[in-house]
Amino acid sequence: MVRIAIIGGGPAGLGAAKKLVEAGQQVTVFEATGELGGLASSFEKDGFKIPIFYHHVLQFDFVTKSLLEEFGLTGNLARNTIKMGISFENTVYELSKIKTLFWNFLSLRDKWKFGMLYLWSKIKKNWSDLEGVNAHDWLEKAVGVNVRDRIFAPLMRVKYGVPLSMISASELAVRLGNEEATGELVYPKEGLYELYKRFGEYLQKNGTDIKLKTPIKNIKFNNESTALVSYDSAGKTATETFDFVINTAPIPVFLKVAQDLSAEFRKQLEQIKYCAGICVTVGMEKPMSKYYWINIFDKPFGITVEHTNLCDIYPWKVCWVSRYAPPEEHMKLPDEEILKIFLSELKTIHPDINVIWTKVSRSQHTSPVYDINYAKYMPNCETPIKNLFFAGIAITYPKLRSQNTAFESGYETAQKVLEQIGLLST
Ligand SMILES: Cc1cc2nc3c(=O)[nH]c(=O)nc-3n(C[C@H](O)[C@H](O)[C@H](O)COP(=O)(O)OP(=O)(O)OC[C@H]3O[C@@H](n4cnc5c(N)ncnc54)[C@H](O)[C@@H]3O)c2cc1C
Repeated sequence: MVRIAIIGGGPAGLGAAKKLVEAGQQVTVFEATGELGGLASSFEKDGFKIPIFYHHVLQFDFVTKSLLEEFGLTGNLARNTIKMGISFENTVYELSKIKTLFWNFLSLRDKWKFGMLYLWSKIKKNWSDLEGVNAHDWLEKAVGVNVRDRIFAPLMRVKYGVPLSMISASELAVRLGNEEATGELVYPKEGLYELYKRFGEYLQKNGTDIKLKTPIKNIKFNNESTALVSYDSAGKTATETFDFVINTAPIPVFLKVAQDLSAEFRKQLEQIKYCAGICVTVGMEKPMSKYYWINIFDKPFGITVEHTNLCDIYPWKVCWVSRYAPPEEHMKLPDEEILKIFLSELKTIHPDINVIWTKVSRSQHTSPVYDINYAKYMPNCETPIKNLFFAGIAITYPKLRSQNTAFESGYETAQKVLEQIGLLST
């Protein structure tokens, strides 16, 4: 039996661990924080577990759905069809085929072009003709400058942290056709926390060693046949030998701890930059709006997600006020300052909001920056080091950044490791 170290207990790490222990391998999961789930983990409020960042399951998240079922959560799923809005100058407009006709910030011609693009994205399945074209130039032709600059440019800035000129037109077109923002949403009524709790219990029952609060500090690859993994545990540093390492931690973290990478491989990985994120979770007396999700283009945050309009399982109504790629100075501000900025701006859209409690969460590594060049330097699950593998959203572009994608990536990487083990034993 070989020994496999998995760095990170987020969805990718857990997915990989599952497939490997089910195949009889000896697996250790090292998780830096005190909880499993990574970006999908939860914080506690008065005995209730609430996700740090909003998380729902989309209609085509088949891996996540099958895990919910496997861990006994299917019977209690909340399902909803998304009601989505966009907000300009403190007014919220419903985003739906009919309601778009009444948006007064677009001319009739703009609305027509916007509608045609939406329809075309549903019909056209192959966008390879747009390969190498950036979204800025393509949208100018497809919908005109006004729709591009008023809708798509701010949307991509708050979602991906990059200007349209750095986004691939073909990827954006595919995404429009995917209806990621419409259709049915699912959420387990016991809370997302329960999925990761049950996942951890399942892995442990099947022999996985899960080490929480155990950040990896150093990995040294010995002649590519073993890896020395050093970690901090209860104030002490320990080192263990493994046959394989699967990294799911953000690439900049991995680069800090990994030794012996060739200059070329290190240079490739150093090109990967990450978006930070700030999210203020707000507990309220009553719902703030009828929308589950509002994209906001002219505020310090980019989205509000009114979670309890999907699944009302807490004693409060809960909303996340969130921003990918905030200005760097916001990441440095203390929580009280962030709260002042976010709440005062939130009240300009929803003056009647009644806030009971708040929680500020941040991450330096919410997602790699998927710019137009990402595919050129994206790592593979197999690496130039024979016993080092990657899993997680750093290797899955252009798929959606989701738990589903990360679980699936964990499965696929585990399969590659098993193939390698098979080769070793023949
Ligand atoms: C604001 C926001 C909203 C989102 N909404 C949704 C949604 O609605 N639906 C959805 O499906 N997905 C959503 N996602 C995306 C989803 O959370 C991610 O795609 C997924 O969590 C990525 O999984 P991962 O395992 O690749 O990485 P991560 O979740 O980042 O896991 C990496 C793990 O590595 C650990 N780690 C880091 N350094 C070390 C170290 N030195 N040693 C040991 N461990 C380490 C981290 O603590 C973390 O647990 C959202 C993400 C964000 C930020």
